[in-house]
Amino acid sequence: MNAFLTESSIPLQNISPHYPQVQCVDVLRLDLLHPVISGNKWFKLRHYLAEATEQKKSTIVTMGGAWSNHLVATAAACAQMGFRSIGLVRGEEPRQYSHTLLKARELKMELIFLTREEFDRGEPHEKWRDTDHYFIPAGGYGEKGAQGAAGILDIPEKKYDFIACAVGTGTTLAGLISHACRTQHLLGISALKGHAELEGNIQQLCTTSFNNWTLLRDFHFGGYARYDSTLIRFMNEFYADTGIPSDFVYTGKLFYAIHTLLQQGYFPAAASVLLIHSGGLQGNNSLTKGVLAF
Ligand SMILES: *Cc1c(COP(=O)(O)O)cnc(C)c1O
Repeated sequence: MNAFLTESSIPLQNISPHYPQVQCVDVLRLDLLHPVISGNKWFKLRHYLAEATEQKKSTIVTMGGAWSNHLVATAAACAQMGFRSIGLVRGEEPRQYSHTLLKARELKMELIFLTREEFDRGEPHEKWRDTDHYFIPAGGYGEKGAQGAAGILDIPEKKYDFIACAVGTGTTLAGLISHACRTQHLLGISALKGHAELEGNIQQLCTTSFNNWTLLRDFHFGGYARYDSTLIRFMNEFYADTGIPSDFVYTGKLFYAIHTLLQQGYFPAAASVLLIHSGGLQGNNSLTKGVLAF
C-alpha cells in the first residue's frame, strides 16, 4: 500500500539523554506509519481486513465517535484497499462536522448517525448486517485486533524490560501482553476515567495468563479527551526536548505518565524502556490553533 512506511522502517527514537534515571528510553514512532491510518490503528485493523478479503466481502461496517481515530483510519484503509465503508457514528448528526468526520467523508465513508442508546449496544442493527458486510467493533476491539497489535512487538529487535502504551479499549495492550516474553513488563496508561470493566476486557483478549502487566489509572486528566494546561504545557515541552509530537487524548498522557514515573524513580536504574507512540495526532485538530507548538 502506498504512503505506508514498511514496518521494518518504522523508526525507534532514542530519548535516553533526557532520562538519566534508567539505561535506555526509546520511542517506537508508529505515528509516522501513515498520515491517516496512524499508529496502532493499522495493526489493529489488518487481521480484520485480511479476513474480510478472504471472505470476499465488499463493505466494511464499523463504529466510532465523532473524533474517533479508529473511524477515520478504517475509512482510509478501506479507500486504499478498495472496500466500501460505512461508519456508524455515536450521537446526532452535528451541524458542523468534526475534522475527523469531514476526513472520513472525504475518504468516501458513508456516515450514519445513531442515538447513544443504539450505539452503546455495540452491535449494528440488522440493516447493516448484510451478507456482504464485514463488521469491525468500535475501536477495533476484539481478538483479531489484539492479534494484529501483537505484531507491533516484532518491530524492535531489542527485548526491552518495560513496554508502555496508551490504553483505550485495551486491545493494543492485550496484544502486547500476549506477545511479550515473561521477563518483559507491560504498562498501560488508561486514557479513560472509570471504565471498571477494562481489566476484565484486557484479560479476555490475552492469549496468555502471564501477570506481566500493570494498568495505570491515574493519568487520565479528568477522563477521555479531557486535558488541562499541565498536560498541554508538558506536550509542548516534550516536543521541544525530543521533537516528538503527541496527541492530547492518548499519547500526551502516556508520555506524561512515563516522564513522571521516571522522575519518581519507578524504574530500576538498569531498565530499558520502550514507549509505543500509537499516533492519533489528527485528534489535535479539535484544539484551538496555537495551543500546541507543533
Ligand atoms: C485508539 C488509540 C489508542 C487506544 O488503543 P486501544 O487498543 O483501544 O487501547 C491509543 N493511542 C491512540 C493514539 C489511539 O488512537
